[in-house]
Order: sequence, then C-alpha cells, then structure tokens
Amino acid sequence: MTQIVPQPGIMDIALYQGGKSHLSGAADVLKLSSNENPLGPSPAAKQVIAAQVDLLHRYPSTDHAALRLAIGEIHGLDPNRIICGVGSDELLQFVTQAYAGPGDEIIHTVHGFSMYPILARMAGAAPVCVPEKDRVVDVEAVLDAVTARTRVVLIANPGNPTGTMVDDADLVRLADDLPSNVVLVLDGAYTEFAEGYDGGVKLADERPNVLMTRTFSKIYGLGGLRIGWGYAALEMIGVLNRIRQPFNLSELQMAAAEAAVRDQGWVTDCAELNAEQRARLTGALRQLGFACDDSFGNFVLARLADEAEAAAADAALQAEGILVRRVGSYGFPEGLRITVGDAEQTGRVIDTLTRWREAG
Ligand SMILES: *Cc1c(COP(=O)(O)O)cnc(C)c1O
Repeated sequence: MTQIVPQPGIMDIALYQGGKSHLSGAADVLKLSSNENPLGPSPAAKQVIAAQVDLLHRYPSTDHAALRLAIGEIHGLDPNRIICGVGSDELLQFVTQAYAGPGDEIIHTVHGFSMYPILARMAGAAPVCVPEKDRVVDVEAVLDAVTARTRVVLIANPGNPTGTMVDDADLVRLADDLPSNVVLVLDGAYTEFAEGYDGGVKLADERPNVLMTRTFSKIYGLGGLRIGWGYAALEMIGVLNRIRQPFNLSELQMAAAEAAVRDQGWVTDCAELNAEQRARLTGALRQLGFACDDSFGNFVLARLADEAEAAAADAALQAEGILVRRVGSYGFPEGLRITVGDAEQTGRVIDTLTRWREAG
C-alpha cells in the first residue's frame, strides 16, 4: 500500500524547545529564561491594543504601509525596502525558503540560534554547522564552509546565547568575501542592547544579497504578539513578499508595533536599565567564580565548571522560583543563560547564587 510521505528533511526536524515558564509548586516565579523585557511593552503600545478590540471584524492591511512608514521614519530607512512578519522568525523562514531548497546548504554557527537548523530543514536544505572561536562567530571558518551548494548564511549578531559580537570589520569582510549568489542574513534581534551597533543596516543598504532582521520581541517587550521586520534591497523584498501570506499580521500587531517603535524614549530607558543590570550581574557572576564573556544582549551566559555544577546551580535557582535557561542544546552543557531583569530581579539571582556558593 502506498502511504502519505512528508517532504525530505521534515522528519529530521527536532522540535524547538522554548524557555521554561512554569515551576510546579512555586507561586512567585521569576522567568529569566526567554530574554523578555522586564518592563514589558511601552504603555503607548498597550493603549492602542485596547482600542483595537472594537475593530476585530475588519481584515488587516496587506501591505503593512503604516507600520513600514513608522519604522522607516524612526530608523531613516526607505519603507519600500522593509518587510514585516510574524516575529523575525517568519522573515528567516521567508529568506531560507525563497533562496534554498533540496540539495542546497544553509550555514549557521555552532552557538547560533537553535531555529537556524530547523529553518534549513523546513526549506528542504541541509544545515551546515560551523565552529566559533572563543564563543565568537569566526568569519574565516564560515568562509571556509562555503561550497557551490551554499545559498544562505545565518549570523546572529549579537549572538544568542553567547552575547558576543562580530566586529564591524569582520562583518564587512564576510560580506565582501561571500560569493555574490549567497544571501547573508544578519539577525539583529538584540541590536538595541548593543550600544552603537546599527544592526547591519549599512551592509543591507549597500548590497543586494544582505538581509537584516529585527524584532519587537526583545527590547520592545512584545514577544507575545509576534512581530518582526526585515530590511534589504528592493529586489529581495519583492522576492520575500511573494511568499508572504497577505494577512500575515493582524491590525492589532501592526498598531502595537507602530506605537512601540514611535516611543523611542521607552526603548532608551529599557536599554539603560539593561546595561546597568547587565554590568552588575556580569560582575557578580565573575566574583562568584563563573566565567562570563561581556554580553551585548539582554542576557548573560555564565559558564560553570561542568554540566553537573550547572545543573546544581539551576536547581538552587529553581528552589527560589527563578527560571533561567540551560543551554546544552546550544553546545554549552556547563552554561546557564540568565536574562537580565530589573534591579530587584537581578538582586534575587545574585543573592540566590551567592547563598548556593556559600553552602556548597
Ligand atoms: C529571540 C530571537 C529572535 C526573535 O524571534 P522572534 O520570532 O522575533 O520572536 C531572533 N533571533 C534570535 C537570535 C533570537 O534570540
């Protein structure tokens, strides 16, 4: 008997594992496992969301013109070169699906975002995993991995869960030395936390094969609403729009994102709080003897002695109702990725780990 068979690669996909959000028996759970903004979204965004309740019978705009205009105004970009999606994950799906398929290769780095190999297989392509150097994307290694089959290179900058950055000169070299038929994706989910970094705007501006992706899930505090955007050459945006569903974003999503992007005061306040608490958390972790790189995101990767010690520290945090992220699946069995919270939350993490160290 013949059977229904999924496309090649689909059954090789290991389902994405999100950060834990529940702890049995704990009432006052502090979730620091998904890099969410401790302050939540801008009050202006909350207000427009409430107003949208009376408009839910209306279909949304298909061209996202108002949101693209707002993003363009705030960032000084041509709105025609912007595309919006259901989280930046959807934009990553568009670009991998549009430019790669069976027989092709998609390069990502070993500590890159865990969605990258999933997205490659969703497109029917083969994910190619490249080593990093001291937890930083190694441009030489990426270039060495390029073959005639390479179609897309996915780079998170700052990286997750490392928090490290590729410096500008290396990014330019990567863009220069990649074959011109390969798409370079610069995933800028944490751009706003990395002072002075443009997210890859300049490279995307100048080159037909570079896509920058950004999100409303991290500094904008709207992870629950699912909104992201991308910036690339007009031709690439035209390609991506052809595989985008016309009603991919609701009016609720677009209105909230527009209000959020227009409230840059909120973004600045959140970035300042993060920088302050990130420095405090990094310093305290180092003092406790954990290895930490300087992070440019809204999280810190603490590396402990080994997997057993990471498990013990995680258990001590959970006993106090604190959820952080184990990152064994990102190649750090000895690691804990801790989202930077507000002052009180960061204090809770530091106190708990200090007591655990003293008891151990
Ligand atoms: C959180 C994150 C994203 C954002 O995903 P959304 O779909 O926009 O919520 C993208 N890339 C990386 C590396 C991330 O950590």
